[in-house]
Amino acid sequence: MRPIITAEMVNGAFGDPALYLDFRFERRALLLDLGDIAALPPRKILRLSDVFVSHAHMDHFSGFDRLVRVSLGRGGEVRLYGPPGFIDRVEHKLAAYTWNLVERYPGDFTLLVRELAPDWTVRVARFRSRGAFAREALPEGRSPEGVLLDEGQFRLRAAFLDHGIPCLGFAFEEKAHVNVWKNRLSEMGLPVGPWLNELKRAVAEDLPDATLIRGWTLGELKARALQIVPGQKLAYVTDVVYSAQNEARIARLAADADLLFIESVFLSSEAEHAARKLHLTAAQAGRIARTARARAVIPFHFSPRYLGREAELRAELERTRAALST
Ligand SMILES: [Zn+2]
Ligand SMILES: [Zn+2]
Repeated sequence: MRPIITAEMVNGAFGDPALYLDFRFERRALLLDLGDIAALPPRKILRLSDVFVSHAHMDHFSGFDRLVRVSLGRGGEVRLYGPPGFIDRVEHKLAAYTWNLVERYPGDFTLLVRELAPDWTVRVARFRSRGAFAREALPEGRSPEGVLLDEGQFRLRAAFLDHGIPCLGFAFEEKAHVNVWKNRLSEMGLPVGPWLNELKRAVAEDLPDATLIRGWTLGELKARALQIVPGQKLAYVTDVVYSAQNEARIARLAADADLLFIESVFLSSEAEHAARKLHLTAAQAGRIARTARARAVIPFHFSPRYLGREAELRAELERTRAALST
């Protein structure tokens, strides 16, 4: 089964972090980190429903202006998520501009901003163009276990990591695909129809095999009429210091990921410099990827000092993964 999204680093391995997740069967996309997004055409920016910001260092947040600039006339809502202090930062960004004409725009472009705390309480604020982007506080919420989105086909989860400041890592987890063998269904004397959605939901929610549906147990239905294909998992981790605690947290977030995007800023020959800058070396990224049992790894956020030498960073990461797996 093909994954429901495609993933693309907007600025390659050296540019500002921004990972564009495009839904194959919907006009919708997600963005992990909001560095420079000048390379994204407006039609792709207008597809964004949710934007997740790991932390507010400029290289991860300076694309905010372009996001607002392009979206302003369209109406609709974009949801933003970020670490502690995030709502203030969005408010200050918006306060830098004059909005006296904005109520004449056709739509009411709205930013719904969620600020996460390490105990997963969530402060929420809304900024509407019709209200000249004045901050409106909304009731606080919670995101148990760091789950920020939980929809029919996927879940998006965050984890708090350490970069000298709190920094968020993200995992996009597709739920299992459930395919129905219609010929086997008819052999069982069962019709096709809306009840199959109920059956798929029962699988997605992991109900007990003894659950009765249309006179059959869920276990029998699974064994005889269903094919269950696990969904793809993608994890995104950047701007973290190498520490045992970060390694454990990343390994949990990215456990068994099919694809792990992870920063590899320096070579291990410059490990001390990496530690001072609170970043990973390629070897440390490889070690973490191995601990997480990631199946494939895409390193990024390379320091510009390695321009023309990125093969060395990739080789160091893969060498470490391989060495540790034997
Ligand atoms: Zn960075
Ligand atoms: Zn940073």
